[in-house]
Amino acid sequence: MPSRDPRVVIIGAGVAGITAGVVLEQAGFENFVIVEKGSDVGGVWHWNRYPGLTCDVPSQIYQFGFAPKPDWSQIWAEGSEIQRYHREVVEAFGLTDRLMLDSEVTDAVHGADGWTVTLAGGRELRADFVIAATGVLHHPFTPDIPGVERFTGSVVHTARWDEAIETVGKRIAVIGSGSTGVQVVSALQPQAAALTQFARTPQWVLWAPMGLRQPRLLAKLLAAAPAAHQRLYSTLLWGSGILADIALKPTWRRRAAQRLARWSLTTQVRDRELRTALTPDYEPFCKRQVLSGTYHRAIGADNAALVTEPISEITETGLRTADGTHHDLDVIVFATGFHPHNYMRPMNLRGRDGLSIDEAWAKGPRAYRMTAIPGFPNLFTVLGPNSPTGSISLQYSAELTARYITQWLERFRDGEFETVEVTEEATVRFNDSVAEAMGPTVWNTGCNSWYFTEENTIDLWPFDRKTMTALLTAPDDRDFLIGHKDGNLR
Ligand code: NAP
Repeated sequence: MPSRDPRVVIIGAGVAGITAGVVLEQAGFENFVIVEKGSDVGGVWHWNRYPGLTCDVPSQIYQFGFAPKPDWSQIWAEGSEIQRYHREVVEAFGLTDRLMLDSEVTDAVHGADGWTVTLAGGRELRADFVIAATGVLHHPFTPDIPGVERFTGSVVHTARWDEAIETVGKRIAVIGSGSTGVQVVSALQPQAAALTQFARTPQWVLWAPMGLRQPRLLAKLLAAAPAAHQRLYSTLLWGSGILADIALKPTWRRRAAQRLARWSLTTQVRDRELRTALTPDYEPFCKRQVLSGTYHRAIGADNAALVTEPISEITETGLRTADGTHHDLDVIVFATGFHPHNYMRPMNLRGRDGLSIDEAWAKGPRAYRMTAIPGFPNLFTVLGPNSPTGSISLQYSAELTARYITQWLERFRDGEFETVEVTEEATVRFNDSVAEAMGPTVWNTGCNSWYFTEENTIDLWPFDRKTMTALLTAPDDRDFLIGHKDGNLR
C-alpha cells in the first residue's frame, strides 16, 4: 500500500482547531495548516474581552487533557488568562509554524482533485481533507432596535468590546440577561454612575464564588506531581458527569440542583419587587445555567436598576421603553448573544456536485455524531452540530472527535481510500435518536433559549459522556460511502 501524508486544512484556531492540530501532530501528520481569521488564537477567548469575562467552568477542567495547567490564578479563570493559555499551548505543541492568522476562508469547494480552500485576498490552498473547527458562538447578534444610529453616546457588543469606551462614572444600559449580561453588569456596576439592565426574560442565576483564587500550594503540588494532576483532571471529568445527568434525566438530582438555583435567588435578593422581577417562569437549567457570585448584589445596588419593559426605540440621548419611559444614557452595551447555528457560514462551502452548505442545511444544521455531513466528502467538523455545550467538557469532546477523524486520515495515508462521506441514512438515524433523547432533557421543559434552531430542534448533545465515547471511538464503515481510486464506492 502506498503511504502519503494527507494535506489537511483546519479552519479555526479556537478550542476545536487547536485540539485538532495537536492530535494531528501527535499522530505524525506533517502536511496541515490551521487557518484563522482572527489575529490570534483562542476563538471565543480571543474575540470576547468584555469587562468581567470569566469562564463559568472551573479551570482545572476547562483545559485540554493533553495540556493540564497547574497554576491557574483563579478557580474560575478570567478570559485573558484563558486566552494566554491557548497561545501557550499552541507554542508548547509546536503549532506556531502551522498557523495562518488574519486569514479568513471565503470558499471551500470540493472537486475531482479534492478541496480548494480560498482565503480573503484570493490565495488558494489545496487539501485532501478539511476540518471545520469554526465554533458555534461566533457571530454576534445585535437586535434591530429602531434609532440605534441616532444615539450620540457609545454603543458596543460584548463580543467586540472596544477598550476605548469609557464606562467609569457613566450611565450605562446593558441589554440582555444571559451569562454575558450577568457578568458585564457585575463588572460595570461598581464604578458606573447608573447601570440599568434591560432584561426581556429573567434568568436563574446560581450562586458560585467565582472570584476564588486557586491556592498557590495547589499549583506547586500539581506542578511537582504531574501524575496526580492527571488524576485530578480525570476525577473532575468523571465528576462533571453530574451536569449531563441533571440535564438529561428528571431525577431527584435535577430537582436538587434546581432547588439550589431557587435558593440562590431567595437568599440573595431581599427586595421583594426586585425578586419578583428576577424570577423566571421556566425551570432552572432550561436555558444555559448562569453562575455568579456577584450579580444579585450588583443589580440590587443603589445605582442599579432592572427594567423588564420591552425596548421600543433608541433615541439621541438614551432609550425608550414601551411604557413611554425615557432612560438617559451615555453607553449602550449589547449583551444579546450570537447567531448560534451559523457554524461555517457565511463561507461558500460546497461539497459533492456543487452542493452548498446552505442547501444541505436548509432545514437547520445537522451532522452525523457532531462530525460528518452527507454530501461533503473528506470534510469533518470538530465541535460541530449537537456539541455538548454545558453538559460535557468541550475539550474532551473535541479531542475525542479529533482522534476519530485521525483514524480516517491514517487510513487515507495508508492508501485505503480516496474519499469518505457519511451516508444520508446514517445521518437521519443519528438525528432521529437525538430527537428522541431530547424528550426528557431539561432544555425541553418550556423555555426559549439559543439552543433551539429555527426548525425548533435542540442543537445539543442529549447523551452522556460514555455514549459519546462509544460513538466516536472508532468509525463504523457501514455508515460511510468509501470511494476508491477506481471510482467505485465500497
Ligand atoms: P444569550 O444567552 O443568548 O443571551 C442573550 C440575551 O440577550 C438574552 O437575555 C436575550 O433575551 C437578550 N436579547 C436578545 N435579543 C433581545 C432584544 N431584541 N431585546 C432585549 N433583549 C434581547 O447570550 P450570552 O449571554 O452572550 O451567552 C451565550 C452563551 O455564551 C452562554 O449561554 C454560554 O454558553 C456562553 N457564555 C459562556 C460564558 C462562560 O463563562 N463560560 C460567559 C458568557 C457566555 P431572551 O432571553 O428573552 O432571548
